Parts: sequence; structure tokens; C-alpha cells
Amino acid sequence: MVREISSQQNKILPAAVTLFICIILAILIWRLLGEEHRNDQKELLKIHAETFASYVTTDISDKLPALGRMAHRWTERGGTPKDEFEADALHYIDDIPGIKAIEWVDPTYYVRWVVPLLGNKEALNLNLGAEEKRRESLEEARDRMTPTLTKPVDLVQGGKGILVYFPIFVGDRFDGFVLVVFDTQEWLDHALRNGRSLHEFEDYQIAITIDNERVFQTNGYQYQISNEWFTKANTKILGHAITVSIYPTAHFLAHDKRISAEMIGLAFAIFGFILSGLVFYLQKASTATKLAEQVNEVLTHESRDRLAAEKKANAANEAKTRFLAAMSHEIRTPLNGVLGVLQLLEKREFPEDVREKLKTAQHSGVFLLALVNQVLDFARIEAGAVEVIEEDFTVSSLMADLHSLFSTQAEQKKLKFEYAVKGSPNLWIFGAYEPIKQVLFNLIGNAIKFTDQGSVTIYADIQEEADGRARLQFDVVDTGKGISEEEQTLIFDAFKQSETGRTSRMGSGLGLSISKNLTNMIKGKIEVKSKVGQGTTFTMWIDVAIAKEQKAPVQECSEVNIASPLKILVAEDNDINQMIIEEMLTSDGHDFVLAENGDEAVKKACQNGLSFDLILMDIQMPVMNGIEATKAIRRQIPDTEILPIYALTANAFKNQMDEYEAAGMQGTLTKPIDRPKLRSVLLRISDHKKEMELNTVVDIPLGKQAL
Ligand code: ADP
Repeated sequence: MVREISSQQNKILPAAVTLFICIILAILIWRLLGEEHRNDQKELLKIHAETFASYVTTDISDKLPALGRMAHRWTERGGTPKDEFEADALHYIDDIPGIKAIEWVDPTYYVRWVVPLLGNKEALNLNLGAEEKRRESLEEARDRMTPTLTKPVDLVQGGKGILVYFPIFVGDRFDGFVLVVFDTQEWLDHALRNGRSLHEFEDYQIAITIDNERVFQTNGYQYQISNEWFTKANTKILGHAITVSIYPTAHFLAHDKRISAEMIGLAFAIFGFILSGLVFYLQKASTATKLAEQVNEVLTHESRDRLAAEKKANAANEAKTRFLAAMSHEIRTPLNGVLGVLQLLEKREFPEDVREKLKTAQHSGVFLLALVNQVLDFARIEAGAVEVIEEDFTVSSLMADLHSLFSTQAEQKKLKFEYAVKGSPNLWIFGAYEPIKQVLFNLIGNAIKFTDQGSVTIYADIQEEADGRARLQFDVVDTGKGISEEEQTLIFDAFKQSETGRTSRMGSGLGLSISKNLTNMIKGKIEVKSKVGQGTTFTMWIDVAIAKEQKAPVQECSEVNIASPLKILVAEDNDINQMIIEEMLTSDGHDFVLAENGDEAVKKACQNGLSFDLILMDIQMPVMNGIEATKAIRRQIPDTEILPIYALTANAFKNQMDEYEAAGMQGTLTKPIDRPKLRSVLLRISDHKKEMELNTVVDIPLGKQAL
């Protein structure tokens, strides 16, 4: 719990620090930019104040020459009649805003003419000399003979004003002044508005003083010394000090914001929030990554452990396979002896009761061998040691082979045993011959085993399909005891038997499990249909390729079809096996030459190499084993067609067969030797020999074969 809280804090801390830094930065930026912006605004204010001051001077400088023309005309003409003066003056008053009155002041400083009289009556006959400010300007203008401007005065008409005096001289005669009275509020208001747009004018509160006396101010102007925006600009007109004081209105401050410092500061603060959120998220993500890494590490450990365990299991499996291989060899070798001797004794004359006992012994031996073979097959499948090899075959020859294998057994049980091939029986197929054969072998064996009367029939159907493929269907139909529905679901499992199977005490419960596994391996399907008391049908389907080369149909390999005499070198150290194989070969008319070990076999083969048709090579032999001996022979006689070598062994595992092949052998005959299989090999070799002698094309493959 404490750890959780501190880890939560660890996640929040960097984000909080980031946020804090960003907010500080935002404030700094806001202040710096704000300061800079204020300075810019103040600078702008100053410029505007100066501009306003320049408007004032420009305006008056523009107007003075025009007004001066009235005095000039007087001078030129030696006087101006009153009505003319008045008309002229009215004209100027209309044209120039801010002029309150234009007057003629006589040389004694009395105002004699006033235009317009309306509103200016008080000025008529006013003695200007009586008031100091006015008199000073009058005297200055007269004495210097130039227009002068008074300091601001209180106008008799009301309000503040300034007076401009234009002295009039006709020759040396002084004729008084043309006096222009400016209402400063109106005049300056106009002068300022004239220069600026109304919008800009609204940005400021403006006050103007002439000689420190306020003569103009905008509506709402309040002098505040504390106002930091308060800005002044000074100028001079005709010796008078003009000061323009301005400060910005809210209007100015509002519209001059542009991208204000506050906004940038705010943006930065928002950015800070986002960044800190990001930091928080990244922190969280990195914690999650760390966690994932930790979990990964644990998983890696676990998977390492699992791999180690798997390795161990594989090693154990391999050990099991090796053990089974060794065991099967150890069991098969003496069994070979027993069965071989029993087979030999079959030919001798014995009393009937002995003959019966011998038969029982032989049956038991065959049953034991089948059991050993099944256990071995099961172990091989379990260990994944079975490799599917595809080869060319015809269904008719497969059927014939199977039929011949079981015909004696069926005969003994007085069963009708037949097969029928539908479709294209002699079509050469390229497929998994051995597994198909083994499955059918199991099914036919079972059918005969569990049928006491009636028949066992094998139906084969070959349907050619598109793309060079064919579909094979095999039905093994018997009229035996049948299997209950409940038992039908179990019998494909290893070591599972039906009631019938158990009571028959013939079998291991492995045959169908092996068949199912093999069918799966070759991507086929196997099914059972049965009714108790009515018989059973096992069906197998398998898709195969049609062989590229369609050869002539093979002759059936049967007892009748025995190979023509061959000269065979047999390398075998075990004397019982020697006896059995000698009997099997010589009784079929073959020439048997014995080598007691591998070394002797090499010597005999190489001395008389070309005179042997075949070598049957035991593997485990003293002095030199079968593999070494084969390698040595192959160095002398590499041509496998001239001298084929077949392994003769109880070691029937695939990797071992591969080893024999690599050493230079062409096939394997497993012990105890099955006579029909031996005969089939011999027949192939004799046929091949004949073809070689006839110098025709060799078709019969002498490739790898396990029989
Ligand atoms: P087993 O070695 O016992 O024959 P299988 O796996 O080949 O083992 O068969 C399993 C069981 O299925 C047999 O024990 C038997 O009960 C039953 N079974 C198989 N084939 C047949 C059949 N053709 N007729 C009746 N029962 C059969």
C-alpha cells in the first residue's frame, strides 16, 4: 500500500515540477512581454502627442498667411471700406473653423469693426490697450510690424481664446490692426480632428496649453499626475509655448492589445498544463513499460524454464525411444530364433499331437511378435519418428499383397476372404503406401480376429479426380461380432478394447489407435459402422496423387511366384538366424554364402563382388558391424544396381533405417524375417537382374524399402 502511494507520488512529481516551471515561465513571459508592450505603447503615445502638437503648429501656420491677406490688401489699397472688410471677414469666418470674430482695431487700440457682430457685441469699442496681455501683443505687433499672437485670454464673448494681430501700415502711417479672435476650444478641436481619423481621436484624452494656460481639452479629460500613460509634447508658435498632453482612453488600450502578453502567458500556461499532462502520461507509460519488462523478464525466465523442461522431456522421450528400440531389438532377436526354428520344424515329420503343440507355439510366437510390433509402432508414432514416404503403387497389387498375407489365417478360421477393386485398379498411384498398407493390415487382422463365421471382404474404390489426383476408399467388411455404439467411440483410443476384444485376449488395444494416427498423418479419414451381432465395416478414405508415369501392371507376388535362383551373401553372426535364413533361401533354390561378421562379408563381397546378386547384412556383428562393412563394400562396388545390400535387423526405427541408407544400403528386412517379404525382395531383384541382362530400361525401384 505504502509502495503504491509512493509510486503514485513518483508519477505525479515530475508532472507537477513541469507544471510549476511552465507557470513560472508563463508569468515571466507575461511580465516581460507586458513590459515591452507597455513601453511600445508609451512610445506610440509620445509619437502621437508630438503629432498632435505638429497639427496645431501646422494649422496655425497654414491659416496665418491667409488671414494676413486682409491686412495686406488694406496696405495695398490704402484702406478697406467697412462693408468690404465685413464681407471679406465673413468669408474667412465661414472658411476657417474656430474663428470667433474678425475685427478692426484702430491705432488707439479700440475695436471699431466687429464681424460678425452677433455674439460679439461686447467686443465693439472695447479698449484692448486696457488689458495688459492684449496690449503687450498689440504693441509688439505694431513695433515689430509682424503678426503677433496673444497669450490665452478670457474672451469677452466667453471661453478661452487667443488673438492674432496683423498690424496695418499704409506707407509710414499706422492704420491699426486686423484682429482675428480664435476660440481655442473650437479651433483646436477642429485642428486635431482634421489631422486624425475620428477613431484615432477617440483613443486619447487631450489637453493643450499655451504659455501654461489650458486652452483646449477633450471631453472627459482629467489631469492625473499618477497616470503612468500621461505623455506630453512641446512646441512653439510665434514665441508661445504650446504643450499637448495626452493619455490613452480605454478604447486605445482595448484595441491596441494585438497578441497581448496576457494571451501569450495564458497560452504558455495552457501549454504547461498539456506538457505536464504529457509528462504524467509518459511517466505512467514508462512505468507500464517497466512493469511489462519485468513481466517479460519473468515470462522469459518461465519460458526458459519451460524450454529447459521441454528439452528434458524431449531427452526423456528420446531415451524412451532408444529404450524401446533396444528392447524391441532384444525381444525380436530371440523371437526371431523361436519363430524361425518353429518354421523349420514345420517341415519335419512329427506325431500329430506334437505337430499341434508346435502350431500353438508358433501362433503364440506370431501373436507375441505382432504385439511387439504394435508397441514399437505406437512408440514410433508417439516419438514422431515416423516419416511418411510416398511411392508408386497400384491398388490391385496392394490388395493382392494383403490378401496373400491373411489368406492362410482366414482359411484356418474357415472364413470366406475376398477382395474387390472398383474404379481403376491398375492405376499407378503416388502415395503413402506403407501407412495405407499398415492401416489395412490392422483392419483386416481385426476383422478376421473378431469374425468366427461368415466372411471378410475388402472393397477398394479408386476414383480419378481432377488435377492429377485420385480418391481411394477402402471398406473392410466382416460378418463378425460387431461393436456397440458406445464402444465405437472408444476403440480408436490407445489401449481401449471392446468387451469382445477384452474377452478374446487377443490384442493390445493399440491397433486402431495406430491406424487412426497413421490415417491422420497421411491426411486421410477412418470411420467405423457396426451393429452388434451383424458385423462391422471399417472405412478409410485417402486422397492421393496419380503417378506421373503409368507403368505396366505388376505381377502379383505370391508363394507361387518365386524368384529365379540368386547368389546371396548373408552376413549374420547369430547361428540360429544363420540357420533360419539359410533354410529360407536354400529351400527356394537360392545359393547361400555365409559371412560370420562384417569384415568377412567385405572380404567375400570384394573377392567375388560381381558374382553376388544380393547381400543381406546383419547390423550388430562382432569385428566389424554391418554399417562399416557396407561402407567398405560401397567403396569397392559403388553401383547399387549391380550389388544391392539389404539390412537384416531387428532395429526398425526410421532414424536407424536412414543411417543404413546413408551407409549405402537399399532397404531393410526386419527380423524375425517374414518369408513373403523376403520373397518379394528376392523377386524384385531377380526381375531386375533379368531386365539388366536383357539390357532394357530398369523400372523396378531399388530405393529405400523397409519390409
Ligand atoms: P486390438 O489389439 O485389441 O485388436 P485394436 O485397437 O485393433 O486393438 O482394436 C480395439 C478394439 O476394437 C478391439 O479390442 C475390439 O474390441 C474392437 N474391434 C476392432 N475391430 C473389430 C471388428 N472388426 N469387429 C469387432 N470388434 C472390433
